[in-house]
Amino acid sequence: MKGLCILGATGSIGANTLDVVARHPDKFRVVALTGNCRTQTLLQQCLAHRPDYAVLVEPKAAQELSRQLKAAGLATEVLVGPQALAEVAVLPEVDCVMAAIVGAAGLLPTLAAARAGKRILLANKEALVISGPIFMDSLRASNAELLPIDSEHNAIFQCLPANFRAGTKASSVRRILLTASGGPFLTTPLERLTEVTPEQAVAHPRWEMGKKISVDSATMMNKGLEVIEASLLFSLPPEQIQVVIHPQSVIHSLVDYVDGSVLAQLGNPDMRIPIAYGLAWPERIESGASALDLFEVACLDFQPPDFERFPCLKLAFEAARLGGTAPVVLNAANEVAVAAFLERRIPFTAIAELIERTLNAFPVSQVTDLDSVLAADSEARRLASELALNFG
Ligand code: NDP
Ligand code: MG
Repeated sequence: MKGLCILGATGSIGANTLDVVARHPDKFRVVALTGNCRTQTLLQQCLAHRPDYAVLVEPKAAQELSRQLKAAGLATEVLVGPQALAEVAVLPEVDCVMAAIVGAAGLLPTLAAARAGKRILLANKEALVISGPIFMDSLRASNAELLPIDSEHNAIFQCLPANFRAGTKASSVRRILLTASGGPFLTTPLERLTEVTPEQAVAHPRWEMGKKISVDSATMMNKGLEVIEASLLFSLPPEQIQVVIHPQSVIHSLVDYVDGSVLAQLGNPDMRIPIAYGLAWPERIESGASALDLFEVACLDFQPPDFERFPCLKLAFEAARLGGTAPVVLNAANEVAVAAFLERRIPFTAIAELIERTLNAFPVSQVTDLDSVLAADSEARRLASELALNFG
């Protein structure tokens, strides 16, 4: 039995993870579940999976959860606050940590799990994007396994040789082809993009996801973050990563080898597939996803990305080339801009503008340690928030 800690259990990836886990009660034991503030969702998950620990970051929500769990007669211990996330991630009875908190908030507990040598199932791409070399060094030092859950990176991992480990360089790879659906605004006339609403932006044509990543998919900043993520996981410069728009989301990414062979992983767009792969690796288990029907799919289309339509993707490629604090600033400004858009404080097209202005205001410096990451993150957030306030 593998002991599991699910960071961000109450979110979309968290719920999908518990769905797979529930299919294999003989293989996994839920040790800890965490959320930010959603008491009712975490309560229901605790009732179904009976973890030893449940964490909520918000004190009032944690108090309420504790009261309701006691009333239900459950022995689950409730912990509170951001430091409790890292505490449960490094428990000795935890073998495997699903990192599924959204945004930079997931960095410290995910890094703690890496340092403690846990198997990391990485959905929380922002944590890796901002801490880059520090994160990869921690993995190497503790010999921790990292399995990518992001569907594209999981696909690439599946297409690499069986002995490949994240953070090393696979030989004979010419480039990686990272597929992208193009999101809900792939064909919207450019002049209409200023008017699109949060509701339209989060209505992703292929995937059901949390709000932040859905907006990131609409701007294609999600693909930009994934370029940086891929460059770290597969030790490749951004020039060897090609983004391919593939609206059907059936091919989840491809590896182009020097002999001209191209390997791809296909499947229905269902996150339970990469999650099950990460949970059981190197074996395979049932995920609950339906079988791919190629006759129903019928056609697979591909097109190059348009940087005028998706300026965020261009900014991310630039940040990937610059390295150092550039990805930290890019991510922080994006988190602030997306939150401002979702709260209807800035228009959709201002997201890229705000990120570009924040990046231009910051000279790139080296990332030397975790403190330099956290300092760049909070400075960039401060500036981006100021820009959002005075936008227009
Ligand atoms: P959701 O918004 O659905 O869930 C986010 C989770 O993080 C929730 O459990 C939430 O708690 C928790 N959380 C939010 N803020 C904090 C905080 N400050 N401290 C601690 N916990 C916090 O997001 P998704 O599940 O969609 O995405 C999670 C991560 O996985 C993201 O990094 C995303 O990019 C990545 N990913 C997601 C995919 C998907 O299909 N959804 C696909 C590929 C990658 P609460 O519910 O209480 O607010
Ligand atoms: Mg992805």
